[in-house]
Parts: sequence; C-alpha cells; structure tokens
Amino acid sequence: MRLELITTGSELLLGYTVNTHANYIAGKLAERGLRLIRQTTVGDDRGEMRIAIAEALSRSDIILITGGLGPTSDDFTRDVVAELLGRQFHRDESVAQKLTERYRKRGMRMPEQILIQAQVPDGATVLDNPNGTAPGLFLEHAGKQIYLLPGPPRELKPMFEKLDLPRRERLDCRVFKVARLPESIVEEKVAPVLKDLPALELGYCARMGEVEVRIIGDSLDEAERRIRARLAKVFSVARTTVSKKS
Ligand code: ATP
Ligand code: MG
Repeated sequence: MRLELITTGSELLLGYTVNTHANYIAGKLAERGLRLIRQTTVGDDRGEMRIAIAEALSRSDIILITGGLGPTSDDFTRDVVAELLGRQFHRDESVAQKLTERYRKRGMRMPEQILIQAQVPDGATVLDNPNGTAPGLFLEHAGKQIYLLPGPPRELKPMFEKLDLPRRERLDCRVFKVARLPESIVEEKVAPVLKDLPALELGYCARMGEVEVRIIGDSLDEAERRIRARLAKVFSVARTTVSKKS
C-alpha cells in the first residue's frame, strides 16, 4: 500500500511557517505501522497543485492533502480535486447549517463566501471539524482514497486522530551511535559483515562528532552482535519500531 502526503500553502514555501504537518502526520502514521512514500509541498497555485495531485493519484493508494479548504480566494484544494476526479459540487445542508449556526451564536454577520465551505464534491464524505469552519472531505476514486484535511494545526490534529486509516505490522529498528569516525569509514566496516543478513535495511546519518547507524529488519540481534564486534566505539543504542515498507 502506497501512501503520500501533499501539504499546501505558499507560506510553507516562503519560510514563514514551519511545515509541522509533515512531521506530525509522518509520526502518527508510523504509530500505525504506515510509512509515507513521499511528501510534497505546493504553494497556493492551482497549476502546481493539479500536477502534484495528479502525480500522487497515478502512483499512490492513499493521498492525504492538507490546507486550502477555507473560504478565501487562495483556498482551492476542493476545486482542484473535484476537477481532477470529474466530480460536480452539491450543497451539503448540514454543513451549511453548522456554519450559519456558528456565526449566529457569535452574533456575527456571516459573509456569503463562508458558504463555499458547504460545497461538497459529489460522493465525498464530510469529516466533521469541531475546531473550525472548513470540514474535511474523504473521496474514493478508482480504488484510491483521498483525504482533504484543514490547514490549521488545531483543526488538523483532532480530525487526523479520527481517520479510519489502515494499520500494518511493524518492524524493529535499532539506532547505534558511533563516536569519532567518519560515516564512510563506519560504512566500510559495517556493511560487509551485515551483507548476508536477509531483508536488513541499513541507513547512516552523520551528526556532530558521531555517526548514527540505523538497522531495520528481522534479525537485529545478530546484526547488533556483529556491529558491536566490528566497532569498538558504539556508545549507545536506541530501540524503536518503524513501519514495514510496502
Ligand atoms: P482556513 O479556513 O484557516 O483558511 P485552510 O484549510 O484553508 O484553513 P490554510 O489556509 O492552508 O488552511 O492554512 C491555515 C493556517 O494553517 C495558516 O496559518 C497556515 O500557516 C497553517 N498551516 C497550513 N498548513 C500547515 C502546515 N503544513 N504546517 C503548519 N501550519 C500549517
Ligand atoms: Mg485558507
């Protein structure tokens, strides 16, 4: 199963806003044993968004898209997705009612444009947004699942928690810290002795004064024994689980 994330918003590309959704969603998916195959960020640009979503649809089974669901002129994720899937819009009366009620309760005049958020592509399921006005949307198309989620983190997070996403088996992961050796030397030492271990995923990450060696797979006890025998300067090991590659 292939999953990917598209975060939208020009502020993310201009450096005004840190893309915290990327980190939050990847972490939450990992807890369910799911791993993204790709993350893409596009600005508030219909053309770029259309390309990014069309590409995602061509290669992934589940596509999560955040941002651009609001009522302003720079919010058009709904439009682009509906156009790509060939869906018309209808007005969802229950969303329209909630929006009207929200403004009435606050004693505020509701700008007409707000009701654009009640325009729902045909066949989409509305995902309730208790913390904001723009509901999320879930669509299925040719065996693919598409989630449209709001941009504001306080709206996205509770909605994301409730999504009915699959769960998958997870794998063990160990990260070794190795002191005072450049990463290429660490690799030269470690890679040959792990070669015959089946389905072992290996990764290296150079940090200040240390290198992290990451191993993911089934035969980690044996891999750890060999790494320790080969490298005298292993000074810590972290154990976690990660999702299985699909
Ligand atoms: P709104 O109804 O507020 O317009 P929206 O669904 O249209 O919601 P955006 O307009 O894209 O969402 O973003 C709203 C707010 O959420 C902005 O302040 C934006 O900076 C923030 N935001 C959007 N995407 C991200 C992200 N990936 N990481 C962190 N903050 C984000
Ligand atoms: Mg917006």
